[in-house]
Order: sequence, then C-alpha cells, then structure tokens
Amino acid sequence: MNENYSDKKLVALTFDDGPNLDTTPKVLDILEEYGVVATFFLIGKFINEDTKAVMARQLELGCEISNHSWNHNFMNEYTAREIQDEITKTNDKIIETVGVTPRFFRPPYISLSDTMYESIDLPFICGINCLDWDNTVSAERRTQLVLDNIKDGDIVLLHDLSGNKNTVDALGDIISGLLDDGYTLVTVSQLFELKGVDPNVKYKLWSNTGD
Ligand SMILES: [Zn+2]
Repeated sequence: MNENYSDKKLVALTFDDGPNLDTTPKVLDILEEYGVVATFFLIGKFINEDTKAVMARQLELGCEISNHSWNHNFMNEYTAREIQDEITKTNDKIIETVGVTPRFFRPPYISLSDTMYESIDLPFICGINCLDWDNTVSAERRTQLVLDNIKDGDIVLLHDLSGNKNTVDALGDIISGLLDDGYTLVTVSQLFELKGVDPNVKYKLWSNTGD
C-alpha cells in the first residue's frame, strides 16, 4: 500500500466463527469478485486438513487471519491458565497450518474479564454489528444496519459461520454500498497502520481506530 491513505475513509470488514466449507468459500468468492480484503477471526477447533485450503485462499486474496479462541466458549469465568490455553492453542494451530501469526483477538460473544485482558497479549477487537448471528434478521436489514451506521475507521463485525446464508446474500450490497460511499476496505492490521494508531492498549476493546 504505497498510496497516501491519510485522507481516505477506511473500513475493515471482519468475519467470525469460520473456517468452514460452506459459508467461508462463498464469502471469499464475493470478496474476490469485488477485489477487496477482510479479516477472519478463526475458531481453532475448526482448523483441519479440509479447512486448510480455505485458509490458504484467504491469505492468497490478501485477507488477514486472527484469533477467536479454540472452543468458542464464554471465557469471562476462565482462569488465566485456561485463557492462555485457548489463545496459544489457536495461534499455534494457525501458524502450523498456514504460517501466519495472528495479531488480534476477538472474544467469543464479546464476553470479557480483567483476567482475559491480563492474560492475552493481543489487542481485543469488537466492531459495529448488524445482528448477523440472528437468523430472523434479513439480508436487506443487515445491509441497512451496516451502511446506516458506518463511519471512517470502523471495524464491521460479521459472521461466516456455517449456514449463515443471509450474510452471504447481504455481502455484495454491503461492499458495493461502502465502495459507493468512498470507503477503502482494508484488513484490521492495515486499518491501524494506515490510521497511525497503536492497537496495543490494555483493557481496551476496539470498534473504531478513533475510540
Ligand atoms: Zn464467534
């Protein structure tokens, strides 16, 4: 990225709960069609020989891979040891599978504790949401919730969880709406870098780089 991004509107689309073999490839097809990137927060236990190819494709398309824990439980009651196991196991699996080191953590269900902040040496990422874990929220509504609430520096919280058809159906409209509004889509790492913001702040949950 050699262009000057200081006066550009930036947004980072993010997807939680993959990798899988139904929704994740469809999300990647759409990202590829529009030539844009996103960040995927992976559940460690879903990484295997089958999903490895999906992860390799994520990287080929310029997307970022980060950490969404191993088991995807509420971690706010976990001990420091249990928390560290979730993070380390997932990071190690990602490194072993595709050779990249996750730089960010998204807490499952955005459940938080001081012990989590003290035990996890990665920035915590949330984001604006469009209720896209709720099957009763239509694709149109998801699109509207993103486009009505978006602002420069935002992280958008979406899910490529298995069977999440409405988000697949919404994604093209979300991306074209953002592009029409003049946004450049970047990864979470690029977002912080281009905004000149250091994400390594303890006890902080980021949804926008200007938070
Ligand atoms: Zn999740």
